[in-house]
Amino acid sequence: MFNIKKSKKIIKKVSHETYNVVVVGGGHAGCEAATAAARIGCSTLLVTNNLKKIGEMSCNPSIGGLGKGHLVREIDALDGIIAKAIDNAGIQFRLLNASKGPAVRGLRAQADRKLYKKAIKNLLKEEKNLTILEDEVIDFRLNERKAIKAIVMKKKGIVSCETIVLTTGTFLNGLIHIGNKKTPAGRIGEKATYGLSRTFKKLGFTLGRMKTGTPPRIEKKTINFRKLLEQKSDKKIRPFSFMNKSIKVKQVSCFITHTNQKTHEIIEKNLVKSAIYSGQIKSIGPRYCPSIEDKIVKFNDKNMHHIFLEPEGLNSKIIYPNGISTSLPENVQEEFVKSIEGLENVKILQHGYAIEYDYIDPLQLKNTLETNKINNLYLAGQINGTTGYEEAAAQGLIAGINAGLKVQNKKEFILSRSEAYIGVLIDDLVNKGVTEPYRMFTSRAEYRLLLRSDNADIRLTPKGIAIGCVKLDRKRIFDKKQKLLEKIDTKYKKLLISPNKLLKFGIKINLDGKKRNIFDLLVFKNINRKKLENIWPEIKKIPDDIFEELETNSVYKGYVERQLQDIKDLKKDEKLKIPVNMNYKNIPNLTKEILEKLTYIKPRNLGEITRISGVTPVAVINILRFFHKKKNNNLKKKNERIS
Ligand code: FAD
Repeated sequence: MFNIKKSKKIIKKVSHETYNVVVVGGGHAGCEAATAAARIGCSTLLVTNNLKKIGEMSCNPSIGGLGKGHLVREIDALDGIIAKAIDNAGIQFRLLNASKGPAVRGLRAQADRKLYKKAIKNLLKEEKNLTILEDEVIDFRLNERKAIKAIVMKKKGIVSCETIVLTTGTFLNGLIHIGNKKTPAGRIGEKATYGLSRTFKKLGFTLGRMKTGTPPRIEKKTINFRKLLEQKSDKKIRPFSFMNKSIKVKQVSCFITHTNQKTHEIIEKNLVKSAIYSGQIKSIGPRYCPSIEDKIVKFNDKNMHHIFLEPEGLNSKIIYPNGISTSLPENVQEEFVKSIEGLENVKILQHGYAIEYDYIDPLQLKNTLETNKINNLYLAGQINGTTGYEEAAAQGLIAGINAGLKVQNKKEFILSRSEAYIGVLIDDLVNKGVTEPYRMFTSRAEYRLLLRSDNADIRLTPKGIAIGCVKLDRKRIFDKKQKLLEKIDTKYKKLLISPNKLLKFGIKINLDGKKRNIFDLLVFKNINRKKLENIWPEIKKIPDDIFEELETNSVYKGYVERQLQDIKDLKKDEKLKIPVNMNYKNIPNLTKEILEKLTYIKPRNLGEITRISGVTPVAVINILRFFHKKKNNNLKKKNERIS
């Protein structure tokens, strides 16, 4: 096993050299930022509180999911490390939404915590421009032009640098709550960070407070699995990284149980003792990852909530019960957990808790994640008001690349909303800000049919190559794939067949006399690869993944064109007036959350709607279509009256 302490990359003393980039924090944002800056050729120093915790998964040991899986593939396309790490540590791979279209499918993998950390450390070790140091950063120094010139560490003092990427997660003024007990900490058992929050306030930054929570961890051997529903990994496993063809790690099962009437009664009876409901915690938590207390209060019509029992590792004795994050006192946690089927005799190894921490309002950032106030200071990850490893890693990548490019006097690297989910994430943060911990969903992306996880490499790897953040091994694999795609495209576009000829192979389509190639034909629901192979047997030679990509591109072509038109319309209709007494219930497919926001805020025009946080681009397009339809109907009625 790689021992990071024995590695030459770990230094005890800092030299007097000036680092191009110093990254503070060895979490998901920090590791991605440090490797990205090093990849583009910058001398990079990663300073983190605790070397043993590099790559630590603070909460759920899993990577990916809906929207988040897209981010992981995009980071990988730019040669980031998160996808490679999870491919080496994933113990249960599942493609979520597999029955739906490729645009909204999300790859998710349960991780072995130890294997994940080991994989991250090995990937850090590969970077020749990267040095790692264990210390706490307590401050930074500016030059006369209000630009970064050094970091200040608790033990090792001052180190000069040209840029800093701060990725301190939940550590700024972190405070853990269990019932009415409060413990200052960044994560359980780890000290909080104080100096940096003071510096930010002194420099005039706006800070806010957020909270998140985690469930109790339970001992595997005390669970009665016989009573529970087993959930196996997919038969066909798809790796996250474009560099991998298969997964070598052993796959294991998760199990499903659920809360019941008794569980709900125990929690309801003790609500006042929960740190969230006693008024002890005032900050806002992640709406999409609610605590069990929140679920019981907000969805009181439901008499059960699912709990996924997820192993923390292949040889781990710990099970993570996903779905019961809590800040109730220890004795209440014991009582309600034991009321759950299969968990009657369970031993709790670590109690659940909530944590409050400072975040920096991301409206004070540029699209490069550099702060507006201080030159050469970049922020990434949970410090910007987001939640999740994938969101943190995506920001780390962009901040690390841009810090490096700035040092090299090169053009900044910004991805737009139409180019990547990463672009959507950063655009939302820096332009809309956050009112609650931000997490990614496919519904946040208006171009989601274009931004599929299957085509992340085609969309982004050329951009990564252009700025020098993609290494040679990936470039070779990508170039080979591109050549193959081009060859297939040129070769098979020439093979044409008429509807009449298709009939001879038992395939019926519109008899319009139009000759079509395989790409045109794949759009038809009744035509698949097998049927086309009967016509052109040479198609059998096309590798499965390449064929799948060609098929998806063909099927999506028309929809993508329509989306591009929607976006054009949206830009044109920004000033479209919305009646003050507008009843949004008349507009189909708006979620309850969006309905509430629109009814409360009463926006005056479409432009204002697009800027309301939480109103998804998809909802904006729905509203636009509603008004277009209304306008057309009014016009029709008027014409009917005239005639
Ligand atoms: P972290 O992973 O927190 O990394 C921060 C790093 O900075 C650490 O290595 C730390 O040691 C280092 N550090 C901090 N201060 C200093 C300093 N001054 N000097 C040097 N090093 C420093 N996400 C979800 O998506 N769903 C959840 O349900 C969820 N629940 C969570 C529950 C808890 C209790 C916690 C703590 C987090 C939870 N998260 C959850 C969030 C998820 O863990 C984070 O979003 C993710 O880890 C953020 O990555 P990051 O790199 O920004 O910060």
